[in-house]
Amino acid sequence: MGGGLDVARLRADFPVLQQPMNGKRLAFLDSAASSQKPQAVIDAERDCYERYYANIHRGVYQLSQQSTQAYEAVRGVVQRFLNAADEREVVFVRGATEAINLVAQSFVRPLLEPGDEILITGMEHHANIVPWQLVAEATGARLVVAPVLDDGQLDMAGLRERISARTRFISVVHVSNTLGTINPVDEVIAAARERDIPVLVDGAQSAPHMPVDVQALGADFYVFSAHKTYGPSGAGVLWGRLDRLEGMPPWQGGGDMIRTVTFEKTEYAEPPQRFEAGTPNIAGVIAMGAGLEYMLAVGREHILAHEQALLAYANERLAGIDGFRVIGTAPDKAGVISFVMADAHPHDIGTILDMEGVAVRAGHHCTQPLMQRFDVPATVRASFGLYNDTTDVDQLVDGLHRVKRFFA
Ligand code: PMP
Repeated sequence: MGGGLDVARLRADFPVLQQPMNGKRLAFLDSAASSQKPQAVIDAERDCYERYYANIHRGVYQLSQQSTQAYEAVRGVVQRFLNAADEREVVFVRGATEAINLVAQSFVRPLLEPGDEILITGMEHHANIVPWQLVAEATGARLVVAPVLDDGQLDMAGLRERISARTRFISVVHVSNTLGTINPVDEVIAAARERDIPVLVDGAQSAPHMPVDVQALGADFYVFSAHKTYGPSGAGVLWGRLDRLEGMPPWQGGGDMIRTVTFEKTEYAEPPQRFEAGTPNIAGVIAMGAGLEYMLAVGREHILAHEQALLAYANERLAGIDGFRVIGTAPDKAGVISFVMADAHPHDIGTILDMEGVAVRAGHHCTQPLMQRFDVPATVRASFGLYNDTTDVDQLVDGLHRVKRFFA
């Protein structure tokens, strides 16, 4: 099939995929929640602990210098991955959630006065809703939500209408983890620019699946999590334009983010260290770098083409199932298929599929307002990674026929 990836060879890089599940071949279709890890990532983390682990930035001894070097080298990898202008724009965090909270507290909160507005969309993950509610509650600002159309597209006209003289910040998801919709973030950013409104792009679901160029995008902030880009959990990236980061106060205080400390006054380090208080996830960041290198070597345009081809194949095969309904049918979609089936609850579907070796997610996918928008309590979600192939889709389709028989 199309896409040009040698998936059989790539699958072999992922040890977890080699094992059977409930006696069946494992069809892992939950990469939107978290991707599996290639051997290169596992090796990078283990190699750090086995050969050169020590705390970073402090030791004069060889091990500490080696681990500092390996950790800091990942900034350059992320710079390449995002085409950032400067590696000082790369802040290491725990993940997308922490990155959004950091921007909310350090950049946005000081801008807000009672009655000011933060604009998001109706398809945000809770991670891009709750941090804004927290700063809104603390300052008297208001959360404004751009609507979602029936097919799962962002209502761009509705979004433009909601940009007002009080809009202080816009935070928008690049790719919806529930619907798969690829949002026209360039249009959102252009609309924001007309009024000098800074924009954060939640890249948790775009970084794993497509080329990203933060300079071309023109956003102020872009965030993603390593555990979805084939790296470990507990590591991630806040990318921020350097002038933005330079103007921001620290969010957390502690070791490693200071220049000098006295009891009277502390001077803070420059970005990115200013935002990296305390001992970070050293081996995790190093392994995150290995995951990003892995994606760069495979080629993100190939990953995108492969997942798009798989999506088309899956749509065609799934359409033949009676009572099957996809939630989110936007023309521009990533490899995510959320669905419901007549007479079967999503959790039951997930459980029956698991018996067939098919791993999917069932639930609200941390997008409860979106579930309300589509008037469903939950969906089943199948999502693709670079290691998925048509056999995974066939296994899903066979499993769903079994579901049908079960509830017939
Ligand atoms: N935004 C989106 C669109 C996501 O899919 C996720 C993860 N499901 C997050 C934010 C939060 O990411 P994390 O839990 O890794 O911080």
